[in-house]
Amino acid sequence: MKKIQMVDLKGQYNDIKDEVNNSIQNVIETTTFINGPKVHEFQKNLETYLDVKHVIPCANGTDALQIAMMGLGLKPGDEVITADFTFAATVEVIALLQLTPVLVDVNLDDFNINIEAVKKAITSKTKAIVPVHLFGQCANMEAILELAKTHNLYVIEDNAQAIGANYTYKDGSKVKAGTIGNVGATSFFPSKNLGCYGDGGAIFTNDDALAHTIRGIVNHGMYERYHHDVVGVNSRLDSIQAAVLDAKLKRLDSYNQARLYAANKYDAAFKDIDNIVVPFRNGLEDSHVFHQYTLKIKGVDRDALVKHLSEKNIPCGVYYPIPLHKQKAYLDARYKESDFEVTNQLVKEVISLPMHTELEDDQIEFITSTIIKFING
Ligand SMILES: *Cc1c(COP(=O)(O)O)cnc(C)c1O
Repeated sequence: MKKIQMVDLKGQYNDIKDEVNNSIQNVIETTTFINGPKVHEFQKNLETYLDVKHVIPCANGTDALQIAMMGLGLKPGDEVITADFTFAATVEVIALLQLTPVLVDVNLDDFNINIEAVKKAITSKTKAIVPVHLFGQCANMEAILELAKTHNLYVIEDNAQAIGANYTYKDGSKVKAGTIGNVGATSFFPSKNLGCYGDGGAIFTNDDALAHTIRGIVNHGMYERYHHDVVGVNSRLDSIQAAVLDAKLKRLDSYNQARLYAANKYDAAFKDIDNIVVPFRNGLEDSHVFHQYTLKIKGVDRDALVKHLSEKNIPCGVYYPIPLHKQKAYLDARYKESDFEVTNQLVKEVISLPMHTELEDDQIEFITSTIIKFING
């Protein structure tokens, strides 16, 4: 059995080595490092893949979120509602722009933002909702869009973990995660489902005017050379990263299929284990791209399990161990612990297993049997 890794980027690279090396070499030979043709090509290919009018590449996923909020013209004091159970980047940019983050609880089943909690948190100052499609599956976008319409709010999707996932409306029509709200933000961090070999990110929107605004913001607020109409940032995807991403985009669906295959194997192995709750799925195979495969463990000492797995050379992760509302940087006297019952429970129960495109059957079998033996004592 090969050594088990949480994420196996080397194995994935070996399969696409020639194509990626040639494409990177070409960028170097042509010295088109910034805003080269490769960036444009990747942008167009991603627009086609996502069926979205505008993709604006940028330097990383955190920038993508920040620039999306800048593009919408959010102002200091505006309240932005997001999930308590997510990576800190989401709330960080809200705070950085001097907007007011309003953290709310999530669902026990799919780990995504809870609609009733969002409803309760809306005030006259609320300007936007940021659903995070956590671990690879969309939040309840139909309900979020409805709330946004009623209260005149923007919807900014944090799609760092769900690129390629489909969202299915009640009428059966499908759209890609990240293209549903006013604007979507994604990350191409190496371990994401579509990852480059460094930092990268992108913003998606179907709104022509917003796309125009954002294209200026990513480039120092310039719409005409050396005319700075708004305060912008410098946030670019470099051409070498675009070369990697363009090669991997062609394979994104098969990469996500490989993740789904592993998730199905895990699910099957754990189905009769009472102490384990496997990841909830909304029922459709194409709705979850398994950025993480995250179990809830009941009545088992999680720390002891993590230690045991590490002794057996099985890596695992706890995403996330501390709710954002308890992080020093984001404490807010208005929060009540009773408002975060689910997140407070999840941080104690979740454990994420190795998940990547190169997992092999014997590795999955070793991981699942080791966990089951531990639980059954
Ligand atoms: C990875 C991630 C980000 C940030 O992406 P970077 O490219 O690392 O800046 C934002 N939100 C979520 C939910 C993420 O998982």
